[in-house]
Order: sequence, then C-alpha cells, then structure tokens
Amino acid sequence: MQSTDVIVVGGGLAGLAAATELTDAGRQVVVIEQEPEQSLGGQAHWSFGGLFFVNSPEQRRMGVRDSHALALADWMGSAAFDRAEDLWPRRWAEAYVDFAAGEKRAWLHGMGMRWFPVVGWAERGGYGAIGHGNSVPRFHVTWGTGPGVLEPFVRRARAAQEKGLLQFAFRHRVDALLVENGRVCGVRGTRLADDPVERGKPSSRDAAGDFEWRAQAVIVASGGIGGNHELVRKNWPQERLGSPPAHVLCGVPAHVDGRMLGISEAAGARLINRDRMWHYVEGIENWNPIWPDHAIRILPGPSSLWLDARGQRLPGPLWPGFDTLGTLEYLRRTGYDYSWFVLNQSIIRREFALSGSEQNPDLTGKSWRQVVKRAVGKQAPAPVEAFKRHGRDFVVRDNLDDLVAGMNALAGNSLIDAARLREEILARDRQFDHPYAKDGQVVAIHNARRYCGDRLVRVAKPHRMLDPAHGPLIAVRLNILTRKTLGGLETDLQARVLAHDGQPLPGLYAAGEAAGFGGGGLHGYRALEGSFLGGCLFSGRVAGRAAAAAIA
Ligand SMILES: Cc1cc2nc3c(=O)[nH]c(=O)nc-3n(C[C@H](O)[C@H](O)[C@H](O)COP(=O)(O)OP(=O)(O)OC[C@H]3O[C@@H](n4cnc5c(N)ncnc54)[C@H](O)[C@@H]3O)c2cc1C
Repeated sequence: MQSTDVIVVGGGLAGLAAATELTDAGRQVVVIEQEPEQSLGGQAHWSFGGLFFVNSPEQRRMGVRDSHALALADWMGSAAFDRAEDLWPRRWAEAYVDFAAGEKRAWLHGMGMRWFPVVGWAERGGYGAIGHGNSVPRFHVTWGTGPGVLEPFVRRARAAQEKGLLQFAFRHRVDALLVENGRVCGVRGTRLADDPVERGKPSSRDAAGDFEWRAQAVIVASGGIGGNHELVRKNWPQERLGSPPAHVLCGVPAHVDGRMLGISEAAGARLINRDRMWHYVEGIENWNPIWPDHAIRILPGPSSLWLDARGQRLPGPLWPGFDTLGTLEYLRRTGYDYSWFVLNQSIIRREFALSGSEQNPDLTGKSWRQVVKRAVGKQAPAPVEAFKRHGRDFVVRDNLDDLVAGMNALAGNSLIDAARLREEILARDRQFDHPYAKDGQVVAIHNARRYCGDRLVRVAKPHRMLDPAHGPLIAVRLNILTRKTLGGLETDLQARVLAHDGQPLPGLYAAGEAAGFGGGGLHGYRALEGSFLGGCLFSGRVAGRAAAAAIA
C-alpha cells in the first residue's frame, strides 16, 4: 500500500484542474487514471473548446452587450430548478455565473489561453425573455480548441511531476473507496495491463494486479455516464423525454463509463438529479470513427429546414441551434429516432460547424491561414466536405425529386413526399421576399444576421433554397447522440461530497462531470453551452483548493 496527501481519480480536465491547485499549494498528489498515458486529458481533448464567458472583451469587440444580471437570468431560465435537491446546484450555478462574469477569463488568459475573436451564439432559446437560452452570444471557442484548453493544465501538472509533487498512475482503475470510521481514506483497484491503443480508442480491461493507495482526501473527477448506454437508458427521464431511443450514437469515448458514480454511492455519497442529461439531436455517424458508434454533433446555424422522419417541419422555436432538449423531447414523441436537415451548399458552407477538436484542424492547429479559408470559395471546411462525400447520413443531389428519393432510400421507407416538401420550401423561400416575415424561423434568421459575428461567418445570406446557383441540395439524417451528464455527486460550495444526511462525507470531494459540473447539477434541466469545460475548471479548482486547505 502506498500513501500520498490527496488522490485524484481521473486525469480529465477536472482532475487536472484539481491536481494542479493542490500541487501549487505544495501538496503531494497522485492522479489515478484507468486509461493509458496517451489519453491524458479525457474528453476535453476531443472537445471544441467552447467556453461560456460573460461580458468578455471578445463580446464587446463584436458589439455584444452582456452583463452578470442578464447571464444569471438566462441561466436560471434554462436551469428551471424545481427540486428540493436543487439547493446546492442552484448555489453552484450562482457561483459559476459569478466566475464566468468575473475572474474566469483573466485566470485562463494568465495561463496563456486565447479565444477566436468571433463569439458564437449557442442555444438561442426562442421562447420568452424568461425561459431557456442565451439572450446574447457567449460561446468563446478557444484558440487550439480542446487541446488548447488542456494545454496549460497539462503543462502545470508535468511541472509538478518534475518537482516530485505529482505522480500519475495510468492504467490504474479504481474499484472501491476505502472508508474507515466514516472517513474516506483511500482507494482500491485494479492495475490494468499496458495497452498501446491510440488516444480515444477503447483500451483493454485485462487485469495485471491490484493496488491500494491511502490519502487524507480523495477527489472524484471521473466524468459522466455518456459512454455507458445501459446506464443512460436506466436513468432516462421517460416522463419528460418519452422512451429512450433504440438507436443512439455515442458522443464520448468509452471511458465515460459512469462506474465511479456507483462506487462513490457505495461509500455513502449521495447522487442527485441522475435523470438530467444533455444529449444532442444533430448527430451524424463518424465515417472515420475513433470510439465505438462515434457520433459527431453538428453545431448548426439557423437556416436549415428541420423535418421529422415523416417529413413534417418542426414547430418553432425548434430551429437549428435553439433548444437542444426541447427538440429531443419533441422528436421522441414522433416515434422515430431520427430527423432531417434539408439545406443546400450555400447553407452548409456557412452554417455547419462540427463539434470536436479533430474536426476543426484550422482552429485546433492555430492556423490563421487555414481559418481564413472558411470565408472564401464555395466549399465548406474540408472536414464538412469529407462528411458530404463519405458520411452515411448525407444525401447530396442536384434536384429535389432526386434528393427525396435519396432520403427515402437511406431511411428504407417512403415517408418523405416530394410534392409536400417542395411546397414547404417554396413557402419558406417566399418569406425572404421581404425584410420582415411571419415565419418564425425566417424572423430568427433576420435577427441572427443583425449580429455581426453571425453575418460574418455563421449565417448564410438569405436566398431561395431551390435556386441551382446555391446548390447542390443536401439532406442530412440526424441521429441522437449521448454526451453530457447534468446530474451527479451532490457537493457543497467547497466541493465536499455530501452523504444522505446532507453532511459532508469526510475525506471525499468531487469535481467536473462526476459532480454534475458542481453541486450535483449546476445546469438544472438545460445548459447554455460552453459551460461544461468551464464547470470542470471551476469545480476542479474549488475542489483542489478546498482539499489543500483541509488537510494537515
Ligand atoms: C466531442 C466533444 C466536444 C465537446 N465540446 C465542448 C465544448 O465546446 N464546450 C464545453 O463546455 N464542453 C464540451 N464538451 C464536454 C467536456 O469536454 C466534458 O464535459 C469535460 O471534458 C469532462 O471532463 P471531466 O474531467 O469531468 O471528465 P472526463 O474528461 O471524462 O475525465 C474523466 C477521467 O476519469 C477516468 N476514470 C473514470 N473512472 C475511473 C476509475 N474508476 N478509475 C480511474 N480512472 C477513471 C476516465 O478514464 C477519464 O480519463 C465536449 C465533449 C466532447 C466529447
């Protein structure tokens, strides 16, 4: 048995944020990670690196006037906290909005992070002023995407390792928390056999021995449940979202297995809001997959026509990029697991961003030369064009009849009627004859184009969809993909895990997705986006500082 000051379970962003705070305070830390060294960083490596900031210099330069009060109102309207166990999630939400409007950007900037100057507008809402969604653009894409978010934390962790303060135990899987006299005092687990598998691919679970480690505190930073579809189905909120889909793709690597949540519960931790989750409805099967059933999420601009499997247009405000969970809820009621975007080349070129560091080599590689290419020519960014060519879910044709034939062939049915779809598209196109309109989506497009960031790079200039000059026509079959876990281990504002009696379970802390990004679910029911990485950074920092202060 070995011992250290603090054990961090999980070498993802939350674990690294916690560990580096601890080593900054001079504490000895062991980061226990089931995956091999080459996968250090967990999900954050694959992420788009979008961060939620409030009233940032980037926003101000784009003419966006944001404020703490507006952001808090948006957050609370989206979270819709309504349960007794929302006490700590609500407090964490308030603290997180303070952080996002306060020192978050300066803290990260000080570590060398920078952001793409055009701020994105995710989750636009579309209901009332009190309700879900971002009133203004707040999604700041990190220069370098996910790896750019990780870089300073990996750098700090490696420096601490050199000083002998931090030790990584890769291929060590925690199977139990050690509890003595009501206090968590260490972990027990399995040493997994070495595996040279590439980053992100599932690694073997072959055992090579056991281990036990003791410490004054343990921080659980093991991520959520999105890679464990059995658990997703078990926790699926049927009363809100209908039955779980039979066909679902995976938006996270296989290590996001949720095991550690059950292990923490077995040690006395309270898990709350397990039925709250954040899955996307714009998933496309990755033609070049890294992990099993690998899905890529389209981050869509607002112009594509969104149809359910039967060819019926989705009602407002369920337009692309407005309300992720509202759309999921609606689509689950259609009886089908998929839906369709119908668009054309001019729209895809401007409006399709693919979430994931590997899908954005220009931003990930910090290449201005490549980024500038997004703005010129008729082609979409190369990864989007590659999906158009190789993606199973894409139908690309020169005319509507052929497009519909292709859609029906792909779906294996004849649910889409060409005449009805033509009528729908022509009616939509007529709405663009005026600078005003009665069609809610068209109004939303005009509104988006009043934001210079959208007009510059994100929203196609209004045009007739069937105009061959804007072709070819494109249909994309959209699948549901699992991604984030909004509930988790209940924690107080010091990231101490609470037991069923509401009191801290001595010695145990939690951070990141395992803690519902703080408190056991600081997002409530819905998220404003860019708040997951930020939630990991914030809760990891809090957990690291609190554990450092608490131990002798
Ligand atoms: C493609 C993609 C795009 C995304 N884009 C964004 C974005 O733009 N903005 C945003 O805010 N969020 C985004 N996210 C979400 C965000 O990346 C994650 O929520 C966040 O990185 C989770 O970090 P974490 O440290 O909590 O967990 P993880 O990254 O899952 O790390 C947990 C680690 O713990 C290890 N572990 C688990 N159990 C054990 C055990 N029993 N023993 C030992 N080790 C264990 C795992 O192997 C893993 O390495 C994206 C996610 C993906 C996948």
